[in-house]
Amino acid sequence: MSENRTFPCPGCGSMLEFDPAAQQLRCPACGSQTPIPVDANAVIMEYPLEEAERNAPTDWSSATATVTCGGCGTKTVVPADSGTAECPFCGSKQLIRDTQTNTIRPESLIPFIIPRDDAKVRFKTWIRKKWLAPGIVRNSSRSDKMNGVYVPYWTYDTQTDYNYTAEAGTHYYVTEYRNRTDASGKQVREAVQVQKTSWRPVFGSGDRFFDDIPINASRNESRRQMEKLSDFSFQGLVPYRPEFLLGFMAERYGVSVTEGFEMACETVRTALTQDVRNAIVADEVRNIRLDVRYRDVRFKHLLAPIWLSSFPYGKKVYRFVINGQTGTVKGDYPKSPWKVALLILLVLAVAVGVFFLVRYLQMQGG
Ligand SMILES: [Zn+2]
Ligand SMILES: [Zn+2]
Repeated sequence: MSENRTFPCPGCGSMLEFDPAAQQLRCPACGSQTPIPVDANAVIMEYPLEEAERNAPTDWSSATATVTCGGCGTKTVVPADSGTAECPFCGSKQLIRDTQTNTIRPESLIPFIIPRDDAKVRFKTWIRKKWLAPGIVRNSSRSDKMNGVYVPYWTYDTQTDYNYTAEAGTHYYVTEYRNRTDASGKQVREAVQVQKTSWRPVFGSGDRFFDDIPINASRNESRRQMEKLSDFSFQGLVPYRPEFLLGFMAERYGVSVTEGFEMACETVRTALTQDVRNAIVADEVRNIRLDVRYRDVRFKHLLAPIWLSSFPYGKKVYRFVINGQTGTVKGDYPKSPWKVALLILLVLAVAVGVFFLVRYLQMQGG
């Protein structure tokens, strides 16, 4: 490992870390603080999709190194000087340094705002509210080591033009006659109003601009949990600087910029389908078919902060994630079989109670 520290403390020479509470660099050895240089001319650029592989910057700065985890295969970017690293996702210490580094560099990032201690408190508050968890878990679970990880995102802008065809339905009512047995056992004939729908074809066109559609670019197994943490505010973006990574790891994207765009197109189609549904004046709409054209597609690559940790219970380890910007907690937790059984009994008891109440009221009425 290199002896020249890339970000040395001006006081004692130890390696600095990014401090979320102060939004500055802090020395873990002597406590001195160093502001992060602000580049007044830095603008967060967006790049045309068709030029992605050619023109987007790939230089993350020589102050960083890419490592591949021998355990789970995740690629992360770490400060070049950090020696003792373990994979934040699977805990493996088999981290292999990559030499090839031509992946697109993030244009911007959301810095960590929630400090590590605050994240621990938020975990405790979260697990205490999980009524179905065994008492011992709710009251005395301690989180394992909190790993701060920047997770890769793509965001896409696109102008869309679309044509659609669909079927619009109008309700009408017809009178039908049915035989029924009344309370005294007699057959009676009664008229009922039945709702029917008449369908007609409709078509039209429209356009809409989409700004910053976020796509999680992680291929990691924690992706499922991270997707529930979609409450990032992209207003908090700052231009990328390697200083923000000090003390943290940054996962490299596993979803390519073109794969990410295909996912963004799904988001677009869902939104446009809803637009079409709202635009058609009808009682019901079905069989919406869209033909969408995308123009002026631009993307940016950014990093979003997440605290990753886990806690043990019995023979299992339960993983959870905390949004490093907003503090939202999501994760798995053990459920007490007794409490689950109790809940099912309670629901059944209510259902049976309602059934007999309805029967009783019908008897009173009839
Ligand atoms: Zn120092
Ligand atoms: Zn791993």
